[in-house]
Amino acid sequence: MAAAMAGSVSSHALSSREFGGLPVASPRPRDFQRAAFTSRGSPLRTICALDGGKKGHGPLSAAQAASPEATLVTAADPTPVEVIDFDKLARELDSTSPLEIMDKALEMFGNDIAIAFSGAEDVALIEYAHLTGRPFRVFSLDTGRLNPETYRFYDEVEKRYNIRIEYVFPDAVEVQALVRSKGLFSFYEDGHQECCRVRKVRPLRKTLKGLRAWITGQRKDQSPGTRASVPVVQVDPSFEGLDGGVGSLVKWNPVAEVDGRDIWKFLRTMNVPVNSLHSQGYVSIGCEPCTRPVLPGQHEREGRWWWEDAKAKECGLHKGNIKQEDTSPAAANGNGHAPSDVFTVSDIVSLSRPGVENLLRLESRKDSWLVVLYAPWCSFCQGMEESFNEVAEQLRGSGVKVGKFRADGDDRAFAEGIGLTSFPTILFFPKHATKPVKYPSEQRDVDSLLGFVNALR
Ligand code: SF4
Repeated sequence: MAAAMAGSVSSHALSSREFGGLPVASPRPRDFQRAAFTSRGSPLRTICALDGGKKGHGPLSAAQAASPEATLVTAADPTPVEVIDFDKLARELDSTSPLEIMDKALEMFGNDIAIAFSGAEDVALIEYAHLTGRPFRVFSLDTGRLNPETYRFYDEVEKRYNIRIEYVFPDAVEVQALVRSKGLFSFYEDGHQECCRVRKVRPLRKTLKGLRAWITGQRKDQSPGTRASVPVVQVDPSFEGLDGGVGSLVKWNPVAEVDGRDIWKFLRTMNVPVNSLHSQGYVSIGCEPCTRPVLPGQHEREGRWWWEDAKAKECGLHKGNIKQEDTSPAAANGNGHAPSDVFTVSDIVSLSRPGVENLLRLESRKDSWLVVLYAPWCSFCQGMEESFNEVAEQLRGSGVKVGKFRADGDDRAFAEGIGLTSFPTILFFPKHATKPVKYPSEQRDVDSLLGFVNALR
């Protein structure tokens, strides 16, 4: 069984039925028990194994799931199934051209995949898709804070490729609530995360829920702190796709291996239109208040959120890239906090072990509690941070408190005693029941989590 748990974070199997009607895989029974389960007929899910950081905190590897029999037959569906190993595929495609990778992505996912276009040099993705001769979809997040040049560029791109970009807008009520309470430029004072969450991450999350795969312009050379190990294809560690659950979305990064200078050579050679902001010194382009030109010799990401820590410049769209420097469980000190933590909003109480022990005593429980047992190095904990934060926000004043308990390191055995099987494990301590109830699903979106709480409170 230990062998079944070894694997990397990005390693994961998806069945080929997810890709345009080809057959579906199910996990073998022994894997089902330990490291993966199905939901609503979906194939393997990914979880973090308890042996953590260095070798075991990744999901069940598809290679492990597939070997020795790569073709499976399920009781419910006698169709032989093929398991796809995206780690292996990433290695195979590592030295191929972006055009070939794009072609493979579009071939595999058809209408269930779309290019995420930011209005910058990732227009190269659209050119590559165009060159494949296959139909393709493009979406773009219109945060409402883009430069006028970017809007004009969108129009130019639509005309050049004879496409309609699928613009995605933030929820008007959420934007109103943010700017009415904190003003238009709160990100300069308390960080960009909240605004990005409202204007980018939530709309993106909604969009991706309608897809099985997406294509990004991430490159290794863009951000030494967060993008240095981006593979050309991976199971998305942060977002969910159409079938729901962690592991239901595939992320393609066809230019991951390409140097920024080569992207520009390609754009010039193919005479591709570019955002006119580039000629004003902008390299990386995002929202107008959060992007500025960079000087010769400066790294392109220095033009984004320049008032914040240079090593963590992700807006949440590629949050799975952010890793703790030392990811080993040994680095955890039990009750203490790792150098970087998750679930850090003020609505979530950080519980110590005595705090959890206190919760276990019914007579001391004055409120119901929703508690996540987590490890900061776990990419699936990082992936659910957004939704869990929002759940905490929505439960404020409801009589249900929300907490987190760091359950790796010295406290792991204790946590296993109260229900920890993988990271993250979510427990609900009802006000009037003796035992905590474990959240049974890998659907970690806001609605599912609130449904669980409301059913038990
Ligand atoms: Fe808000 Fe700036 Fe993020 Fe745009 S980049 S969503 S303006 S914080």
